[in-house]
Amino acid sequence: MSKRDYYEVLGVAKNASEAELKKAYRRLAMKYHPDRNPDDEEAEAKFKEAKEAYEVLNDAQKRTAYDQFGHAGVDQSMGGGPGYGGGAGAGNFSDIFGDIFGDIFGGGGPGGRGTSSVRRGSDLRYNLELSLEDAVHGTTVKIRVPTMVKCESCGGSGGEGDSKPTPCATCGGQGQVRMQQGFFSVQQTCPSCHGNGVIISNPCKSCHGHGRVQEHKTLSVKVPAGVDNGDRIRLSGEGEAGENGGPSGDLYVQVGIKDHPIFVRDDNNLYCEVPISFVTAALGGELEVPTLDGKVKLKIPAGTQTGKLFRMRGKGVKSVRGGVTGDLLSRVVVETPVNLSAEQRDILQSFEQSLGGDAQHNPRASSWLDGVKKFFGDLGA
Ligand SMILES: [Zn+2]
Ligand SMILES: [Zn+2]
Repeated sequence: MSKRDYYEVLGVAKNASEAELKKAYRRLAMKYHPDRNPDDEEAEAKFKEAKEAYEVLNDAQKRTAYDQFGHAGVDQSMGGGPGYGGGAGAGNFSDIFGDIFGDIFGGGGPGGRGTSSVRRGSDLRYNLELSLEDAVHGTTVKIRVPTMVKCESCGGSGGEGDSKPTPCATCGGQGQVRMQQGFFSVQQTCPSCHGNGVIISNPCKSCHGHGRVQEHKTLSVKVPAGVDNGDRIRLSGEGEAGENGGPSGDLYVQVGIKDHPIFVRDDNNLYCEVPISFVTAALGGELEVPTLDGKVKLKIPAGTQTGKLFRMRGKGVKSVRGGVTGDLLSRVVVETPVNLSAEQRDILQSFEQSLGGDAQHNPRASSWLDGVKKFFGDLGA
């Protein structure tokens, strides 16, 4: 049986705060608790499902692993975990509330950490511009990224000296309060703690109680050979530091490739234009054409027309995803000679006369002229 998504099980958004998770879990636990639903297997299954989802998402480390890898990221740690299954009663009702409230109020729990303000740091994005050569061959670049890092002065707690965050008395650590407005009861962000769930009486002077400060850090990014426009490289844990001891986000390096003076890349193929003289085009010859690995020789057969595409297999880009290597496609463009001397003009004129308008020398013009004649012939008929 495939497992349901934990967020879906609890009916919360992916970015749900710990307070929201707790609330959702408490609601489900009340609804499906075996004490309330004796001999109801479906309710018991729902209860266990919710409990499991909550246990993972409420643990910052497991939640990060789950967000990245889904169930696969947390299954091992779940496997041998403290069994709530086994059917032998899933703890009694008051135990659950003991658990939850104990956690929120920090009473009796281990250390009373006021965990409701622990947040995973944001993911960051960095746009990296690469030359085509670097993208094709791979490279290592140093990048400087602005980031929020854990405050050294307070060790991330946000409190000055020994001052520790305490659960907010106004909202009981939930970060949310209910306000009565006429007939309606409205949930609002707690005005005392601004939704953090904790109060810091003596905030750290370096980070103003946030537990994080902005800094620049230099990272070394290994760019694999073959990356293309739009590819992303993930640097796990190099995003912003989490709040109040939460795990760091990830840094996504978004690859962009600069225009190249010679080559245009299309997927794994490279295109380039190669100008050739009309004499070479007519008589044939050998050209040196550029590839990203140096020059190679290209044979031009006699009578080559402008626009002809020559394909060199395997001279393109080796895909970053392994396997295929693209081709290099060179399009020859016959160049019309300019700035001719009187002598050169004479030579060309006598050359033109030597052709004598013979159709076999100009296959394209001949077929074009035939087409024109046929067109006017059709019109006249
Ligand atoms: Zn600080
Ligand atoms: Zn509050």
